Amino acid sequence: MKRPNPPEMSPEFVEVAIPVPVDRTFTYRVPESIIARRLPLIGERVRVPFGGRILTGYIVAGAGSPPDRKVVDILSVLDDGVVVPRDVLRLTKWMADYYCVGWGEALRVALPGGAGGKRGSLERVCAVGNLPSQEEVEGALRRSPKQRELLNRVLKAAGKEGQFELGEGGVNVRSLPPNLRKGPLKGLVERGWIRLREASAEAPLFEVAPREAPAGVEAPPVPTPHQATALKALVEGLDAGGFHVFLLKGVTGSGKTEVYLRAIERALQLERDAIVLVPEIALTPQVLQRFRSRFGDRVAELHSGLTVSERYRQWRRAAGGSASIVVGARSAVFAPVRRLGLIVVDEEHDASYKQEETPRYNARDVALVRAQQAGACAILGSATPSLESFYNGETGKYGRLELPDRVEERPLPRVRIVDLRRASREASGRAGGDGVLSRELADALSLTLERGEQALLFLNRRGFASCVQCRDCGWSADCPHCNVSLTFHISDRSLRCHYCDYRARPPKACPECSGPNLDTKGVGTQRVEDSVRALFPGARIARMDRDTTRTRGAHGRILGAVSRREVDILLGTQMVAKGHDYPGITLVGVILADVSINMPDFRSAERTFQLLTQVSGRAGRGGAPGEVIIQTYRPDHYAIRHAASHDYDGFVQEELSFRRELSYPPYARMVRFRIEAASASAAEKFAGRLALGLANLAEGEEGKRGRGGLLEILGPAPGVFGRLQGKFRWQVVLKSASPKKLGRVVREACRGTGKDFRPPSKVRFGVDVDPLDLY
Ligand code: ADP
Ligand code: ZN
Ligand code: ZN
Repeated sequence: MKRPNPPEMSPEFVEVAIPVPVDRTFTYRVPESIIARRLPLIGERVRVPFGGRILTGYIVAGAGSPPDRKVVDILSVLDDGVVVPRDVLRLTKWMADYYCVGWGEALRVALPGGAGGKRGSLERVCAVGNLPSQEEVEGALRRSPKQRELLNRVLKAAGKEGQFELGEGGVNVRSLPPNLRKGPLKGLVERGWIRLREASAEAPLFEVAPREAPAGVEAPPVPTPHQATALKALVEGLDAGGFHVFLLKGVTGSGKTEVYLRAIERALQLERDAIVLVPEIALTPQVLQRFRSRFGDRVAELHSGLTVSERYRQWRRAAGGSASIVVGARSAVFAPVRRLGLIVVDEEHDASYKQEETPRYNARDVALVRAQQAGACAILGSATPSLESFYNGETGKYGRLELPDRVEERPLPRVRIVDLRRASREASGRAGGDGVLSRELADALSLTLERGEQALLFLNRRGFASCVQCRDCGWSADCPHCNVSLTFHISDRSLRCHYCDYRARPPKACPECSGPNLDTKGVGTQRVEDSVRALFPGARIARMDRDTTRTRGAHGRILGAVSRREVDILLGTQMVAKGHDYPGITLVGVILADVSINMPDFRSAERTFQLLTQVSGRAGRGGAPGEVIIQTYRPDHYAIRHAASHDYDGFVQEELSFRRELSYPPYARMVRFRIEAASASAAEKFAGRLALGLANLAEGEEGKRGRGGLLEILGPAPGVFGRLQGKFRWQVVLKSASPKKLGRVVREACRGTGKDFRPPSKVRFGVDVDPLDLY
């Protein structure tokens, strides 16, 4: 890793990238006190004074010649020769230009720990202390249910649930719900029953992945003919060297992962390293386990389910060469592997590859650029490739590979659509006839339970009811800070805003007309849980959504129970739709497919099709065939029809014709300018000025020579919700078939040379290049 600065550079001066939104670096002097110890390296982190503050920056180059003015000194060097590798420096430079962010801002996401992360920082953990007899504990805590709950958590984490003795494990204090963190924690510490200690920098507090599988090597299955054909092309690409992209389209359960594993094996034989990106890895511990059982210790993992110190340790294993395969989420695209040969993006269409805060990058696209810069192969895998990737496959930009069948001749599940308009007319009067489960779905559930098989229920909305409304005057409970209605949560009988987390008690009577007839409307996962429990009191039910998975390791616990078949019905939001592979699941029920269709966005049909295909793909992955029931009020919608008949091509053709007509991606690129202000008029005014400024720049571009690619400006328009988290939102969208023209205009606007692009002090302004949605 240690690379000295080239000798021609003047060692006293370095260029530093600072995490601020500017498109330049800053020259600093390295004082003698630092040089005396050793020269700082390119890629190292330094503390520097900047505009009255002290910030962490990154040395990105030596200064070519000493500056002709006095420059400020670096205060300190943060790392011991552990640096951002050169190829990651280059990659983040590209990101800074493409996404219009500061180089330092791009570098900050490229390092483990992300924004707030300090290496080796210790975390507070509570562990089991000296406990008296069980009777004594029970007695003392009878009046203190919160202390009781906390103690249970700690005992459980220590693996000593139900036993009262000293254990080694512990619970990270930060992972506790806020209501346990203060009083109850203090209470138990004072009793001496739990003790606080600092977590060692070595061991992770929780295993995200169940690691029963030994680090040994599992015998790989013989590839199917389709897998073999795909592999042949991949191996040829890897052997030839250089940049190649392959789009691997394979239906759910067709064995895409096996293809990745074998391609990686080849890369390793060629002494090249591999990065595998998977969406939301904490949700899919199985995936990691499959890589471990094939490659053992050579696998490092990088994702947010790890503690800061563990993430840093994994990062160093890749940088030091002891791990040659990095499996991780979005930010693993920056893993410091040494000789990248292959980068895999699994479920390439997944929205979680896009970071929804600055820098707003898409890891799939960054992965392709990294592969290109490194002369490596890239595999984009999906059962439902994004329209952009499909299109690049059609135009020959990507090599196309396909796995059209499930392995071992397992059929794709049979899909039935239940028309809720008809079902709700019939539902009246029968048990569980609250409109949540249709007769078809209830019957199928009961057959599944009788056969001792497992079922999965999916609804993309958490909470109990999405709205509380007065039947007499129409009043509804809305968030005072956002233009959305509050969701009713039954667990603590609260009304919550899912955008800003505002919470309130539900009123006893209507605040408008004082009437007593308040109704809850719109089903959420909690309500589904209620209905299913009422209908199947004997069934073992687990709910997985953001409310039940707030603590570290919660996903792993729920999914572990599913795989041990301690759960009959798993229900939840899109967390349950992701790439799980549980052979016991034979029935999948979609409670309401319309939730994602109704989002006001040009990608909502694509999202819906992908989600329905994904969740359907969870059924029938074992020996027994699977069945899917989709409940909807819009049975004729093309996203639902094509998902039900497993017809990707049919869906894509229909969707592409809409996109072409309206020139949306993949026929055009988009950049969204987001404006946010506490004052409605300030936001609107700046949005107007910005749109005019962009129009002027666009006009200048049109005058230049070059083929096609008109620049189109949409807006200014208020965001779909108008107001969120107390801020009024406006946006201006720029669209063009010419990425070059678009890029020039956007960079010009971001440099903020003209006054049109400099927001007034109380207005925030951000750029989203290639936005995934427009709401
Ligand atoms: P996908 O990622 O396409 O959904 P997976 O890679 O998870 O599919 O494969 C589905 C299942 O089939 C897994 O349990 C996997 O172990 C198994 N499998 C994959 N390839 C083969 C093969 N060639 N022969 C037998 N089983 C296989
Ligand atoms: Zn009312
Ligand atoms: Zn709100």
